[in-house]
Amino acid sequence: MALGITLGLVFGKSIAWIKPFGDLFIRLLKMIVMPIIISTLITGAASISPVKLGKIGARVVVLYLLTSAFAVCIGLAAGAIFKPHVVLEGAAVASAAGKEVAKLNISQTLLNIVPTNWFASVTTDSVLPVIFFSILFGIGLSYLCESKKEHMAENGKLILSFCEGVSELMVNMTGAIMQYAPIGVCALLANAFGGIGLKGLSGMGMAVFTVFLGYAVHIVIVYFGLIALCGLNPLRFWRDAKDAFITGFVSRSSYGTVPVTMQACERMGVSKEVYSFSIPLGATINMDGTAIYQGVCVTFIMLTATGAMLTPAQIGTVILTATLMSIGTAGVPGAGAIMLLMVMESVGLKVDQGSAVAAAYAMILGLDAIFDMGRTALNVTGDAACTAIVAKSVGLLDMGKWNS
Ligand code: ASP
Repeated sequence: MALGITLGLVFGKSIAWIKPFGDLFIRLLKMIVMPIIISTLITGAASISPVKLGKIGARVVVLYLLTSAFAVCIGLAAGAIFKPHVVLEGAAVASAAGKEVAKLNISQTLLNIVPTNWFASVTTDSVLPVIFFSILFGIGLSYLCESKKEHMAENGKLILSFCEGVSELMVNMTGAIMQYAPIGVCALLANAFGGIGLKGLSGMGMAVFTVFLGYAVHIVIVYFGLIALCGLNPLRFWRDAKDAFITGFVSRSSYGTVPVTMQACERMGVSKEVYSFSIPLGATINMDGTAIYQGVCVTFIMLTATGAMLTPAQIGTVILTATLMSIGTAGVPGAGAIMLLMVMESVGLKVDQGSAVAAAYAMILGLDAIFDMGRTALNVTGDAACTAIVAKSVGLLDMGKWNS
């Protein structure tokens, strides 16, 4: 990581030739995401009773939502304390103007969880429909295995052991791909920092500082705090979670990091029944880093464009919208910056051509690579932390791994 950042800052844009070496790492990870999600989820769901699965699922979702709401509050508090803003010069470039704000349609979003064409969901990386199908498939499979008709039970066991085999194979492939991680990580960071450069960073120093401080506070207070409250050792958690953290940081994709986050949970002794479901779900709906970023950035844009702080009513609106937005944000690079538009709209900050709001938003967009690294690292760490906590609470955490 350090070498990559240094190379980027020293050589600037001329280091761009290194990009393919970084892209290779992301492609290798993405290559195995779908097979991992499907095979682990089917074997996970097949080995657990639907009632227990529902109980785990409810806890995971509640914890994901609560930590995200808390994250927005941290972002807003950091924004209120450090008041990041820049003084706009007359003709600020408003390259962000005219960006479309997609409308959130709740009933359609919920309906979309049920796929009409399962293969299409797999090929377009739509995680929620794939989760839905795989869980139903797994539950159906467990009934098939228990069937009184011998040939049906035999078929069921055959399918189950095939899925188990694929899932184990994917774990091995993740391990092999991670051998390439140091080179991929260095190349990705060199390219990202080369593109931004020292000058880009310094003008927005306060905004970057505030967002990253928010990320750090959230990790220490919320994740380490909750882990410790459950009687677990936060440092032991970090030992395994850091691989996911670093991969999230450089790949800027929670989705692409799924294999590594799952591997981290496996090493922590979390049962597959929990992580097979919670990690892909978290990569889609749990975005604490994105929530913090939105809290700080909406304050930055408000201050820069209007000179005013958010009112208490606006703060309430931001907490609600940003928490909901984190569910709707896809785990891919840059998604959070688009969702920020909706949070801005909710408090009346419209990106009209040539407006001060557009100029302030453009500044945030200019540094999105940096913000996105931190928020994705936090997003995936949050998935792993909530997973470990829920696993502990339902007795599906191998404590032997925590005492070593
Ligand atoms: N890149 C983030 C992620 O994959 C989402 C975002 O842009 O906020 O988790």
